[in-house]
Amino acid sequence: MSDIRYNRSKSLFERACKSIPGGVNSPVRAFNAVGGSPIFFKKAKGAYLYDEDGNTYIDYINSWGPMILGHGKEEVVEAVKAQADHAFSFGAPTELEIEVAEQIRQMVPWLDLVRMVNSGTEACMSAIRLARGYTGRDKVIKFAGCYHGHADSFLIQAGSGALTLGEPNSPGVTAGTAQDTLLAQFNDLAGVVELVSNNAGNVAAIIVEPVAGNMGCIPPSDEFLGGLRSLCDREGIVLIFDEVMTGFRLSTAGAAGRLGIVPDLVTYGKVIGGGMPVGAFGGKREIFEHLAPTGPVYQAGTLSGNPLAMVSGYHTLKYLSDHPELYERIDNTTAQIHSDMESVMNEKGMPFQINRIGSMISLHFCENPVTDFTSATVGNNETFKKFFHHMLSNGVYLPPSAYETWFISDAIGQEEVEKTVETMRSF
Ligand SMILES: *Cc1c(COP(=O)(O)O)cnc(C)c1O
Repeated sequence: MSDIRYNRSKSLFERACKSIPGGVNSPVRAFNAVGGSPIFFKKAKGAYLYDEDGNTYIDYINSWGPMILGHGKEEVVEAVKAQADHAFSFGAPTELEIEVAEQIRQMVPWLDLVRMVNSGTEACMSAIRLARGYTGRDKVIKFAGCYHGHADSFLIQAGSGALTLGEPNSPGVTAGTAQDTLLAQFNDLAGVVELVSNNAGNVAAIIVEPVAGNMGCIPPSDEFLGGLRSLCDREGIVLIFDEVMTGFRLSTAGAAGRLGIVPDLVTYGKVIGGGMPVGAFGGKREIFEHLAPTGPVYQAGTLSGNPLAMVSGYHTLKYLSDHPELYERIDNTTAQIHSDMESVMNEKGMPFQINRIGSMISLHFCENPVTDFTSATVGNNETFKKFFHHMLSNGVYLPPSAYETWFISDAIGQEEVEKTVETMRSF
């Protein structure tokens, strides 16, 4: 990164480090996993990002998922501008919140009630508190390599940035909290069944990314989610789908809709705010009757349902439900990237695995299929680092870690795919 093309980003990073921990407000942005210093951005439009040095990139992060329509979608931008003239925040009810909730329920028909929060982390931590309050049980089962935000209970073998830093278990999480989180392996139904039977009557919830996206992209095996569903029904356990990444991305009704398995509770984030800080958790009325103010399980938020955020979310969701053909288009674009990337990697004769479902895709530099946390961590990260920097310096912005999923937006078209594949070929 001594390259003069990144001069301004470099000096901004040095300046940032003087007043922001590690120079960033979320760890994975720091490029620790790939080396070099992070790019500072100024502007984004459609499929493209523009950095502080005047370089242009095709964006395969899309804010880690939210910008599914591409950046600066006119319908969303205009609505947010108009709302800014009305009010930023009341801390009191608005009709907008009803519209968002109704829009979500229209897209996810099995969902009875939905509470808005400000991030995916908040959604997940609130959902497990509700599940515990509802069942009167303490333990929660999570899967190694799945990421559910940074609340204490989830930082046990967590994916995403926690994994990138090589510290899936964070210091600062007490032993008391850690002992209530039980760990299972993704796609290993028998392991979960055993864990539940060893903790009979004590498991409040099983929380799972229905398609894992924080250790690369790992689709569930055919029997995995259905098996969890039956197990939870049998044992009175609340099944929580963490759809912060997959919600409104894999279909209008998320992974649950696409795969045909209905959880008891679901958490959302990312796409639901269209780039504004929004999260939500929703599910069965019977469970939500235990949530304040109807019931005793406390959960609150000064800025929850914030009007500006709601407008951005509402118009993003509305666009998606008015244009369902978009899902086919982004899936096809991603399928094309998949097959072209496969040809390029085969030409190069390097070991690789590509995992994909819908518009989520990841590339691992390893020999064997990536199906869980263990197989996700055997990839050649040195190769990924070189690959990442090759793509970056040629104007293709991939997630700066081998454990992150790439997100395809509707703004990525033929031209961008060709440029991307051409860049891979010259690696
Ligand atoms: C991003 C993510 C979260 C955390 O959401 P934040 O908005 O970053 O707090 C939780 N679960 C999954 C599956 C995610 O991908």
